[in-house]
Amino acid sequence: MSTVVDPIAVDFERQREVAAALREFMPAASVLFEREDVQPYECDGLSAYRQVPMVVALPENEGHVRRILEICHEKRVPVVARGAGTGLSGGALPLGNGVLLSLAKLMRILEIDPLARIARVQPGVRNLAISEAAAPLGLYYAPDPSSQIACSIGGNVAENSGGVHCLKYGLTVHNILGIRAVTIEGEILEIGSAGLDSAGYDLLALMTGSEGMLAVVTEVTVKLLPKPECAQVVMAAFDEVEKAGAAVANVIAAGIIPAGLEMMDQAATLAVEHFVHAGYPTDVAGILLCESDGTAEEVADEVRRVEAIMEASGATMIRVSQSDAERLKFWAGRKAAFPAVGRISPDYYCMDGTIPRKRLAEMLRRITELERKYGLRCANVFHAGDGNLHPLILYDANKPDELERTEAFGGEILAYSIEVGGTITGEHGVGIEKVNHMCLQFRAAELETFHGVKRAFDEHGLLNPGKAVPTLNRCAEFGRAHVHAGQEKFPDLPRF
Ligand SMILES: Cc1cc2nc3c(=O)[nH]c(=O)nc-3n(C[C@H](O)[C@H](O)[C@H](O)COP(=O)(O)OP(=O)(O)OC[C@H]3O[C@@H](n4cnc5c(N)ncnc54)[C@H](O)[C@@H]3O)c2cc1C
Repeated sequence: MSTVVDPIAVDFERQREVAAALREFMPAASVLFEREDVQPYECDGLSAYRQVPMVVALPENEGHVRRILEICHEKRVPVVARGAGTGLSGGALPLGNGVLLSLAKLMRILEIDPLARIARVQPGVRNLAISEAAAPLGLYYAPDPSSQIACSIGGNVAENSGGVHCLKYGLTVHNILGIRAVTIEGEILEIGSAGLDSAGYDLLALMTGSEGMLAVVTEVTVKLLPKPECAQVVMAAFDEVEKAGAAVANVIAAGIIPAGLEMMDQAATLAVEHFVHAGYPTDVAGILLCESDGTAEEVADEVRRVEAIMEASGATMIRVSQSDAERLKFWAGRKAAFPAVGRISPDYYCMDGTIPRKRLAEMLRRITELERKYGLRCANVFHAGDGNLHPLILYDANKPDELERTEAFGGEILAYSIEVGGTITGEHGVGIEKVNHMCLQFRAAELETFHGVKRAFDEHGLLNPGKAVPTLNRCAEFGRAHVHAGQEKFPDLPRF
């Protein structure tokens, strides 16, 4: 069972009119509107929410993207851009009266320059395909979302995606140099430069993480890094999650920035081990995976220091990968955590808050309380080094009100994230999933500033409307249903 977000009846006349206008310059096979053709696009990775789009457009080049947007602008048709549809916050959820603009056919790697260490790629290129293409040159693209086998670089830019190695190497925003993008009016924007700084406002940072609401990305120039000479992973097990949380803080406090520092609680570890057989211990409260990379000497030294910190923090077992195959096996487990959890529950809901590292253990305790309150189980996977939580709430959408309870559970995790000084998203974006929780995190004046930015790019609000930034009215409505600590940030909103 799932929720249809916008159950408006299809306006067939409008549908035929828009499709005919697009078919004037695109092959008929690239403009879809029959129910069975558009149905596969009805949701992204947040599959609890579905909506069949009015028309799906599959442009083959930037010129097509420009014309599609011009036409949608002229006819005032809303547009939702879509990369690979792996997003977890409903950012690519279509609109029943809109065009779903898929960038899937723009999947060429245009240039790899090993001297400048850059790659210029179209938006539909898969994240992992960039590293695969750069590998013969000894280079790779650092941000590595667990979905990297499928997700597109355009989607990564729109979500400012992260991954296991972002603790040391940064998020998407730190690893791109420039983009080309098309505005809703069909204008080309060339943003960014080869230099580290450029004149004017930092539009590259603004576009990164803008969730398809400001412009459609048609090309990305990414930085490539030399592949580290070697890498090793320390796996440490703990009999209390508090100790694992403290170990994370101790590693960072010792001045070490590991290439990755991940944590899984018992539920996640068990699910993964039964699925991937990565060699994780299963009779523990949680495990940490801590990767060091660099030269052989640097890695040997860092691994020694990490082992000592894990031991001093109370690890009950420590293992260090002895070969690259073993290192990859340790990571294969972590990277398969979501599908592994999918095997033990009919449905799961992945939350994505970020909190100060030192509050990790406290958050885990809170989640345990919430499991009891809502009668639902939760498996926890954290990008612990940067405090990014991924609680996976297990539910069955076919059971009455389980989705509702799950969302309330997730909402409390987000509210608590704000309460402990964190934020409601680390890397998955806001989309439709967390749009109400933006009301808790931001004041009315801040939300108005976001709307001002949106208007500067998209006066009529046609690009991905209803996502990421709530209206103040919506916040007032939300306030009626939820009274959270964050609400004191809205002195101008009514109290209930
Ligand atoms: C199993 C699994 C694991 C995941 N692990 C991670 C992880 O470790 N880290 C992480 O950050 N995320 C993770 N994700 C979430 C997701 O993969 C990322 O958000 C990813 O960047 C989405 O890319 P996509 O191509 O699928 O984008 P989509 O889902 O198609 O779109 C996402 C958003 O980007 C917009 N968009 C897409 N393309 C463009 C474009 N060319 N121009 C403008 N806007 C555009 C869409 O409108 C939408 O708002 C995971 C998802 C899954 C299913």
